[in-house]
Amino acid sequence: MKLRDKVAIVTGAGRGIGKAIVVAFAREGADVVVADIDAQSAKETANELRTMRCEALPIKADVSDSTEVIEMVETAIKVFKKIDILVNNAGIFSSVSLDSMTEDEWDRVMNVNLKGAFLCSQAAMKYMKKQRSGKIVNIGSLAAEVGGIFAGANYAASKAGVICLTKSLAKQLAPYGINVNAVAPGVIETDMTKNWPKEVKESLLKQIPLNRFGTPEEVAETVVFLVSDGANYITGATIDVNGGIRMD
Ligand code: NAD
Repeated sequence: MKLRDKVAIVTGAGRGIGKAIVVAFAREGADVVVADIDAQSAKETANELRTMRCEALPIKADVSDSTEVIEMVETAIKVFKKIDILVNNAGIFSSVSLDSMTEDEWDRVMNVNLKGAFLCSQAAMKYMKKQRSGKIVNIGSLAAEVGGIFAGANYAASKAGVICLTKSLAKQLAPYGINVNAVAPGVIETDMTKNWPKEVKESLLKQIPLNRFGTPEEVAETVVFLVSDGANYITGATIDVNGGIRMD
């Protein structure tokens, strides 16, 4: 088991990619804080993890609210005494065109996707710095690299911010033995993408060399690697999990 005795906080872990990440962490022996704005899904996911003999703590937390984020981290410390891993996964999507984008819609997405990753990292890194160890993984997006295809400019820009936040954190936290990396998923089959228009999905599929969309589990496997000892010399990197739709 790659994560035995490790304690992880994963945001947006009630469903989708976040849920696949906590399941993979539990399988590798970690104890996890299942954080989500949706208390019910956090509770249900934590219950599933307990059947895997994982210490799982559900916490209702909105990552865009600094008070709730600080409470989430303090509760995790009270229960588990340390934080080894933080995954900033919570995110929301938008496909509003720039013509009709309101200031509120811009802020809504920025506040969760970018400010949320900043707030959670700031709260957790305080403890990681004291421990002089830690791993942070931010979930970016293909949209950050190519601009919104179907995604709105607010979503793409928020995720580009997440990639840059990753590099800044990686530089600032390297002296403390903390690695910070990002994963950039392409199109992954979750609730976020399930209602995308058929023609959008068909057109995207034609551009994917592996000829299919990805699964949450395939993103989770990459995150497991990045938080494991096998990735100790990787920091500031963004790993694409996109079926080859964009290659560097
Ligand atoms: P999802 O909508 O299935 O799940 C997102 C989870 O985040 C939900 O459980 C939701 O309740 C939670 N959440 C939403 N707002 C929150 C908040 N303010 N505070 C805490 N939790 C909150 O989405 P997903 O597809 O699993 O996406 C997970 C991450 O992956 C997101 O950051 C998303 O932008 C990113 N991503 C997804 C895809 C994709 O194709 N699905 C592609 C690239 C990147």
